[in-house]
Amino acid sequence: MPGERARRIVVVGASLGGLRAAEQLRAAGHTGDLTVIGDEPHPPYNRPPLSKEVLAAEVSFDRVAFRMRAAVADVGWRLGTAVTGADLAARIVRLADGTEIPYDGLVIATGLRPRRLDVPGTGPSRHVVRTLDDAAALRACLRPGTRVAVVGAGFIGCEVAATARTLGADVTVAAPESAPMLRPLGPDLGAELRRRHEERGVRFLLGRTVARFTGDGLKLSDGTAVPAEVVVEAVGAMPCVEWLEGNGLDLSDGVLCDGALRAEGRPEVVAVGDVARFPNRRYDDVPRRVEHWSIPTDTAKRAARALLGKEEGPFMPLPSFWSDQYGMRLQSFGAPNLGDGDIRVLEGELGEEAVLGYHRDGGLVGVVMLGCVRSLARYRKLLLDDVRIPAS
Ligand SMILES: Cc1cc2nc3c(=O)[nH]c(=O)nc-3n(C[C@H](O)[C@H](O)[C@H](O)COP(=O)(O)OP(=O)(O)OC[C@H]3O[C@@H](n4cnc5c(N)ncnc54)[C@H](O)[C@@H]3O)c2cc1C
Repeated sequence: MPGERARRIVVVGASLGGLRAAEQLRAAGHTGDLTVIGDEPHPPYNRPPLSKEVLAAEVSFDRVAFRMRAAVADVGWRLGTAVTGADLAARIVRLADGTEIPYDGLVIATGLRPRRLDVPGTGPSRHVVRTLDDAAALRACLRPGTRVAVVGAGFIGCEVAATARTLGADVTVAAPESAPMLRPLGPDLGAELRRRHEERGVRFLLGRTVARFTGDGLKLSDGTAVPAEVVVEAVGAMPCVEWLEGNGLDLSDGVLCDGALRAEGRPEVVAVGDVARFPNRRYDDVPRRVEHWSIPTDTAKRAARALLGKEEGPFMPLPSFWSDQYGMRLQSFGAPNLGDGDIRVLEGELGEEAVLGYHRDGGLVGVVMLGCVRSLARYRKLLLDDVRIPAS
């Protein structure tokens, strides 16, 4: 399809990535048919509030729905419809009822689904937080005094713990790591985050895994019993790619793409958002998935242009990520997780407000800001401007 005018483009996944892909395809000049297929019943909505405002109180759908810009007014939306298979050689996607939808260009925007705990025993009320319906179901269980066991101390586990605690629940977080949000923050900021949670009454049982459900809670690997009426499984997520199997794509961790988000060997197929594994030339040639809100927009722009045959220079988005816990804002720019352990306080003090710099081979690859909002634009610009493209 590159170089020729696309007749029909199908986008699978109707969330942030799918919506932005549709917008960017129109912006890049695609005037042909555009269909977006999504398995959720809702029009595209914003996920970050699900572990924050939406969990804290009932909010109307309008508060989380994405604005539908005029550019996508003529898009055909097929919501509440799962794509169950695809034949990339024949250029069709297949729905559960057997309907086949042909395409000239395909955008994969199917994101992630939560991992589940695979341990024996029957649990109390078990929850995950990925969709609006998940958040509503969990909110209905959160009352003052409810004993909540959060399994996993990543950003979703920490945000859920903070929101549940703010609602008066009795919260325990259990996780194998030695500190919350260890991977993106490192040990010192992780320890500070733990201190702030503990100060508000959250209990941490770290360095252990879940051994089994006990009916009235959990038993951990060291034998500790965690009584709970509600268990939240925040143990990561896996790419929704099963529908693409059998087509020769590398689906080992999302959809392996080149620097223009094209699936290997399939120039008429691109992937965007959480499901895409792509190299970011800002750092190196290693393809990685990035589960940040900023990435669906960056990848959609690039992928839409690639699908329409518009070649450009190296793709090097600046990832950015934020997390809100107890009214405290963590903001990250760049890729702190690619640092080699050389973490320096660039500004402020950990116990109050601080900016931490994450380095690789002595060069700054990411910053995380705890508060310090006034310095936000400065650090973002610093990282944006500091482009040292590594040799291939
Ligand atoms: C609770 C929560 C809080 C978050 N908070 C933050 C935050 O504070 N800051 C931040 O930077 N990021 C945050 N994120 C991450 C951010 O929301 C994601 O990076 C973003 O939603 C990714 O968008 P996406 O369109 O790629 O994937 P998704 O949002 O996962 O959308 C994929 C869509 O495709 C659908 N789908 C899957 N398979 C099929 C199929 N076979 N057929 C049809 N449809 C299918 C899915 O149901 C879904 O609707 C949060 C995520 C969650 C879940």
